[in-house]
Amino acid sequence: MASLQPVRGTHDIHGETMRRHRHVEETARNLAARYGYGEIAPPIFEFTPVFARTLGEGSDIVRKEMYTFTDRGGEEVTLRPEFTAGIARAFISEGWRQNLPLKFFAAGPVFRYERPQRGRLRQFHQIDAEILGVAGPEADIEIIALGAEILERLGALDRCRLLLNTLGDPASRQAYRHALLDYFSRYEAKLSPDSRDRLVRNPLRILDSKDPGDRALLAEAPLLHKYLNPASLDFFAAVCRGLDRLGVAYQVNQRLVRGLDYYTHTAFEFVTEALGSQGAVIAGGRYDGLIETLGGPSTPGIGWAGGIERLGMLTSTLPATPGLIALVALGQAAEERAWLLARELRALGHVVDLGFGGGLGRQMKRADRIGARAAILLGDDELSRGEATLRDLGSGEQRRVALPALAGSLGAYR
Ligand code: ATP
Ligand code: MG
Repeated sequence: MASLQPVRGTHDIHGETMRRHRHVEETARNLAARYGYGEIAPPIFEFTPVFARTLGEGSDIVRKEMYTFTDRGGEEVTLRPEFTAGIARAFISEGWRQNLPLKFFAAGPVFRYERPQRGRLRQFHQIDAEILGVAGPEADIEIIALGAEILERLGALDRCRLLLNTLGDPASRQAYRHALLDYFSRYEAKLSPDSRDRLVRNPLRILDSKDPGDRALLAEAPLLHKYLNPASLDFFAAVCRGLDRLGVAYQVNQRLVRGLDYYTHTAFEFVTEALGSQGAVIAGGRYDGLIETLGGPSTPGIGWAGGIERLGMLTSTLPATPGLIALVALGQAAEERAWLLARELRALGHVVDLGFGGGLGRQMKRADRIGARAAILLGDDELSRGEATLRDLGSGEQRRVALPALAGSLGAYR
């Protein structure tokens, strides 16, 4: 028999973690809707080239993190490691080019074969926002401001910093790439094996390295902003001005490059120190070349993704759960009546749990375990008098209440 452990890097989400998860997702979904973003749910799997082509053969995700398999019909498919590629594919296959600009929100599970640790899972969940079809800095400003406002509503913004950078336009990026190549070629022997590989595929990625030896070499490496042409500098200045106007605080960090090949201009990350080493909570950038890479019409785009697990750990605005009321029926007539009473109370907005059988002791234990704030005790005798007992499970106080007055007595437990 197969092991009954969950697969490494996957989790059963329940209890408070589930409530945090939902809170993050709902907060983001509501705010994105208020910004005019339409929700999209692309499939959980796509043909492998959708990800392989857009993320780039040199990216960590494509090289070692994708869950790829051949299905029964012989098709090569991959569980989505992120949302952007699927949304770009939908844009092309749904023929939405006449509808630009488009703004999307998405949320759901994503899959990456990573080394699991706190805040790093193999099935994790993301919220995601994308703007397609806006070439100017307005899109960069809005999408970053949306991320900041979500963090603010989660009560997490004060524990996050926004790191902001630009990779410039393709020409600037190319110039910088040459400079980096020159520099690191001199130290090739000292680079980590991963970064030696990056040197060939995409030297910018070395800036992203977590290897201490690489990081030491990075201290002297050429800085990106020296290689930006005037158009790239103007674009970045406009993004900064827009964020200033909206009061979104940021720190320019020239070492911030995002892992993917398709990024141009703006790159950003909201990071926190509060979660140990897995500090990136929302990250994104501009990807003007991506849709073309997939075979679609040249279309600018920008977006971000946030890790729901990490955001869930960070949120401080988790709403209290609505007061749960345990309906404890004792005796056959009471049990039958309990169904109807529960329905009436639920229709009025109360949260009512039926314990289903067992004596008083067992049902009260259950009430305690599920965190009920009050119990309605309904026995056959009481029922015949048209009454129930309402017990506050905090104070232990109880009193008799006539059934028609019951709903009115529950106000404190909403
Ligand atoms: P990292 O540098 O931590 O590997 P990344 O650059 O791979 O992050 P993105 O692809 O930008 O991450 O994903 C966006 C967000 O998704 C991250 O900022 C993070 O909050 C979350 N995330 C990424 N990978 C994982 C994972 N394996 N488990 C949990 N959350 C993750
Ligand atoms: Mg990663």
